[in-house]
Amino acid sequence: MTMTRLYLDYNATAPVIDAAKQAALEAMVLCGNPSSVHAEGRAARAIVEKARADIARMIGAGLQQIIFTSGGTEANVLALNGVRPGPLIVSAIEHDSVLAAAKASGREVHICPVLPSGVLNLDALDNILVRISEPPLVSVMLANNETGVIQPIAAAADRVHQAGGLLHCDAVQAGGRLPINVKELGVDLLTLSGHKMGALKGVGILWARGSVALAAQIRGGGQELGRRSGTENISGIASFGAAAGIAANSLAETGRLQILRDRLETELLAIASDAVIYGRDAPRLCNTTAVRMPGLAAETQVMSFDLEGIAISSGAACSSGKVRASHVLQAMGVEAHAASEAIRISMGHKTTDDDIARFLAAWDKIYTRMKRRAAG
Ligand code: PLP
Repeated sequence: MTMTRLYLDYNATAPVIDAAKQAALEAMVLCGNPSSVHAEGRAARAIVEKARADIARMIGAGLQQIIFTSGGTEANVLALNGVRPGPLIVSAIEHDSVLAAAKASGREVHICPVLPSGVLNLDALDNILVRISEPPLVSVMLANNETGVIQPIAAAADRVHQAGGLLHCDAVQAGGRLPINVKELGVDLLTLSGHKMGALKGVGILWARGSVALAAQIRGGGQELGRRSGTENISGIASFGAAAGIAANSLAETGRLQILRDRLETELLAIASDAVIYGRDAPRLCNTTAVRMPGLAAETQVMSFDLEGIAISSGAACSSGKVRASHVLQAMGVEAHAASEAIRISMGHKTTDDDIARFLAAWDKIYTRMKRRAAG
């Protein structure tokens, strides 16, 4: 008998939701290129513009300010490379796509630390802002992909604007899990990725305030008002628009997930009192738990859960395959060995109370076996 799988790795990617699948299928059968002026082209264009409107509505933005990209990574790279000149300030817990773009930029780069809670250290940001000579571009994520810790974006935006700079926010993990309004956040640029919200993989957006001068990183046919060339991924874009339409109305779901997460954490600690949940004292996403099971390497835990039919991840799933301790946990002051024993459990629309019970039974089994072995 084949075991039913339990998927608890939504922060790596979420299962495609029905509305997104339907929208993608409808777009897939259209043959027109959205840049063509004939009827087929106009039909394809209509799909792109509807999705743009749905995404704009979800984040309280203007239509022309949304640029479709191939995903969150490309949107982050467009933000960091497209806004020039000036120094870059990035938080220590950013996704690798932001950290790598900063490193490769050849510009003056400052890394802003976080507090042990996982929250951006605003005093440290102030200190960097007074030390730099030119207005910077600052990049701070809305919610961390490993711990779920939510960052004080509006407070950071005030400080950055007072210094004459711009704030980019990677909101990839917050899409559909937190209300996002670009005006209330006070950001100048914002990244979203479709596949974290139940759309297809390979589509994202960069929102850029109208006044932000952005140099295209991919040039050619002049699509997206010249800011990102290349024929649009219509199926992906249609699915993203559908997912955004659902996300804008489905935040009630966050209350349900938070109850599941709290149950998971309380019962998991009751089984393993030496386990440590990271970022627990900070405001966090409703769906994410980063936890250390002392004594068992994260990779071994991932394999053990996989054998139980459960998909979870160790550290950032985007870089899975590489065995290295999480830079996020280390930035929070967790020592490398402890960080190497941390796993991430991330839930979503399909997760039920029974799933939590099944995860806890597997956690109990893996933890008890490890303790028995350690006792000889
Ligand atoms: N930013 C964050 C916070 C992420 O978690 C990820 C992916 O995990 C990305 C950016 C990259 O997005 P994409 O997979 O769409 O390139």
